[in-house]
Amino acid sequence: MADPDREIWEKVLSHLRAHEHEICRQWFDDIEPIGVADGVYRLRAPQDVHRNYLEKHCSEVFSAAVQSVTERLLTVRFIGPMDAAPQHATGNGHSKTNGKPRKQVIVPPVGANAGPSWRESLPVSPDHTFDNFIVGQENRLAHAAAKAVARDAGCEYNPLFIYGGVGLGKTHLLQAIWLEVKATRPDANIHYTSAEGFTTDLQAAMQSGQLADFRDRVLNLDLLIIDDIQFLTGRASTREEFFHTFNNLHQAGRQIVLSSDAPPDDIPDLESRLVSRFKSGLVIDVRPPVFETRIEILKRKASIRGLTIPDDAASFIAQHVQRNVRELEGAITRLQMIQQLDGRRLSLESVRESLGETIKELKPQVSTDQLIASVTDYFNVRLPDLQSKRRQKSIAFPRQVAMYLLRQHTRFSLEEIGGYFGGRDHTTVMHAVRTIARKRTEDETLDHFIESVEQRFGLDAE
Ligand code: ADP
Ligand code: MG
Repeated sequence: MADPDREIWEKVLSHLRAHEHEICRQWFDDIEPIGVADGVYRLRAPQDVHRNYLEKHCSEVFSAAVQSVTERLLTVRFIGPMDAAPQHATGNGHSKTNGKPRKQVIVPPVGANAGPSWRESLPVSPDHTFDNFIVGQENRLAHAAAKAVARDAGCEYNPLFIYGGVGLGKTHLLQAIWLEVKATRPDANIHYTSAEGFTTDLQAAMQSGQLADFRDRVLNLDLLIIDDIQFLTGRASTREEFFHTFNNLHQAGRQIVLSSDAPPDDIPDLESRLVSRFKSGLVIDVRPPVFETRIEILKRKASIRGLTIPDDAASFIAQHVQRNVRELEGAITRLQMIQQLDGRRLSLESVRESLGETIKELKPQVSTDQLIASVTDYFNVRLPDLQSKRRQKSIAFPRQVAMYLLRQHTRFSLEEIGGYFGGRDHTTVMHAVRTIARKRTEDETLDHFIESVEQRFGLDAE
């Protein structure tokens, strides 16, 4: 091949598809290799949102893949479609080798809002577009409302409040709104955050005397999206300020979109004035997908990951995996792995074979609470500590053990486990699982503890 950069990239891509299937996406095909300069191998993402995904989830694995393919100490850096590729890198502060601080790179700020008491928007997955959202009778209205808001922010559906159980597409819809607005009105000022993130920022602003600044920032938004508003907490003064911020924004005709696991009336401890504010626009639910929707979702999810599932196999899966869409995704991840391992095309038989185990896995064999209780008892910590941001070893270590146990013995995804432990990233969970697996081989006491938990609940040791 004439182009060495492309040649490296193609090898890296097949390496990733073979070894890192959980992060791989079909659109990786659209990544363009730029080249190597001063120890940095640059790749151009098709859109900024892809670049963000890559930066967030893929930096380390991509660098490791490039190093393994080229046998050179290279670091991967991602750039967006509009970012200029430097002619030559300075090499100063650029390389992100393991353990070294990253950044000092001139990354355009995400939104114009980066500030001390205002965290960046939550990351948005490029997969969560309206196109990739399968519409069925269970989510038709929520989908239509989300589309309407994306088309015409500040419309009559304000606030738009979407609620429903876990894994039914609320976050997907919120992010689809984000993606659509960004695509159609790139200048729109959008903030996408969690209830926890928003209150933390608000509290920080209040404590540091920057409340006026915070209010201005909020009032400058065209669209405020808050995920999982059921976790709105904080002191009375914070909630008071939240109420006013919300009102001001609403009165200024700016669009607010909220998601929750329950309708406003059923959110525990939510004061009535907020309940009535949340109900003042459109409140709409998403329900678990019916069989036909499940089949469609499966096919779409599979194609995003570059997998083809035959019809009979898709209906077999849809019959057996029913509860929520995340479980369907889990099934797909498993099929992807199986296909990679034995290189066959998927067939009803291979799916049946592999799903046998998935179905077993999906049955709760032990509850999350039981696993966590065994960790908190043993290490003498409290669950809120594990869910907090605290990083000292006496907490961080039990947290990693809990993540490990949940990952090994429950059906929850890396994302879900990360979310549960204080909104951490899925790579943090991956790291915890690897760390504990390694430590088990070195630390007999730890190994013994984990074995005893597994024995107590009759779990298969992996
Ligand atoms: P929630 O926020 O309601 O817990 P998510 O939006 O995180 O759920 O959805 C979980 C996963 O299921 C996501 O990967 C999402 O893309 C997928 N999903 C849920 N509903 C749909 C749908 N109708 N079409 C396509 N994917 C869906
Ligand atoms: Mg969600």
